[in-house]
Amino acid sequence: MEDPFGRIVNYLRVSVTDRCDFRCVYCMSENMTFLPRKDLLSLEELERLCSVFIDKGVRKLRLTGGEPLVRRNVMHLIRNLGKQIDQGRLDELTITTNGSQLHRFSNELYEAGIRRINVSLDTLNEEKFAKITRWGRLPQVLNGIAHAKKAGLQIKINAVALKGENETEIEDMMHWAHGEGFDLTLIETMPLGEIEGDRTDQYIPISTVRQRLEQKFTLEDIPYKTGGPARYVEVKETGGRIGFITPMSHNFCESCNRVRLTCTGTLYMCLGKDDAVDLRSALRSSESDETLSHAIDKAILLKPKGHDFVIDRNAAPAVSRHMSTTGG
Ligand code: SAM
Ligand code: SF4
Repeated sequence: MEDPFGRIVNYLRVSVTDRCDFRCVYCMSENMTFLPRKDLLSLEELERLCSVFIDKGVRKLRLTGGEPLVRRNVMHLIRNLGKQIDQGRLDELTITTNGSQLHRFSNELYEAGIRRINVSLDTLNEEKFAKITRWGRLPQVLNGIAHAKKAGLQIKINAVALKGENETEIEDMMHWAHGEGFDLTLIETMPLGEIEGDRTDQYIPISTVRQRLEQKFTLEDIPYKTGGPARYVEVKETGGRIGFITPMSHNFCESCNRVRLTCTGTLYMCLGKDDAVDLRSALRSSESDETLSHAIDKAILLKPKGHDFVIDRNAAPAVSRHMSTTGG
């Protein structure tokens, strides 16, 4: 699949549910209205959609959400998608999770063929964790991460840099992550969906975080890539890696290789734009995959050149949907 700007699309992110057991302050409001269950694609429909994308050249698939591991029977989908790795049709199946269910699922994830997972964790301070996630509890997540490590899953910790919240803690998080053998990726907050509070209060450019780290540590740019937008450095003192994701201060759209599918079958060509195509009707209109395949071809032609996020006190969010809908 090639978009109008010559970019090859070979990476699909699938939000398997918009629901979540946390309510992170930058992601959702506390009283979220979720999609009616009747609008959701079944797990079988999601699998069929993924398979057609794989037929069309997708080599990497990430399941996300909402919290993917709270969708009922999600392991059924994961196991079936994992089989496509054995068949040589897919290079990698990964998952982004808040970690709350990893104590239950880590072994099964490994058995299904998952080798790497992203766990979102913004702080190691129990009180701050409860404040940022509203409903999350740190010990449960750390226990989940320990299970994942034991199961043999390679772990990347994703932290959103939050002004006045975890900005002074980044160094501690790096020592912890690198000590455990995990990569750490730092992300800027993006203006997606209405939340309570003001995003200008949360936003801190990753360049500032990097400069602060550079005052104490030797960061060497390395060409390491995981298929995502992070630029990696190796920290000489710890031997570990840090990834920087800078959608706000430096957009990376020129090398974008992905599209995003929601749990209702809407395909978004860009996280920060409204260009979308409904694939659910194409999926349900015929048992053959031809109509669906055509609908995907047409959708890819709508992929925009890039996003133009602005975080400004008076600006509305770039798009009205939350990250939990499109999938992070
Ligand atoms: N629930 C899972 C989790 O938290 O990992 C998967 C979905 S979550 C939407 C995916 C990632 O998006 C998380 O790392 C989260 O921190 C990040 N995220 C959510 N809202 C964001 C925003 N407005 N700006 C930047 N990152 C955001
Ligand atoms: Fe849930 Fe992930 Fe959003 Fe937090 S960031 S509310 S864990 S979907």
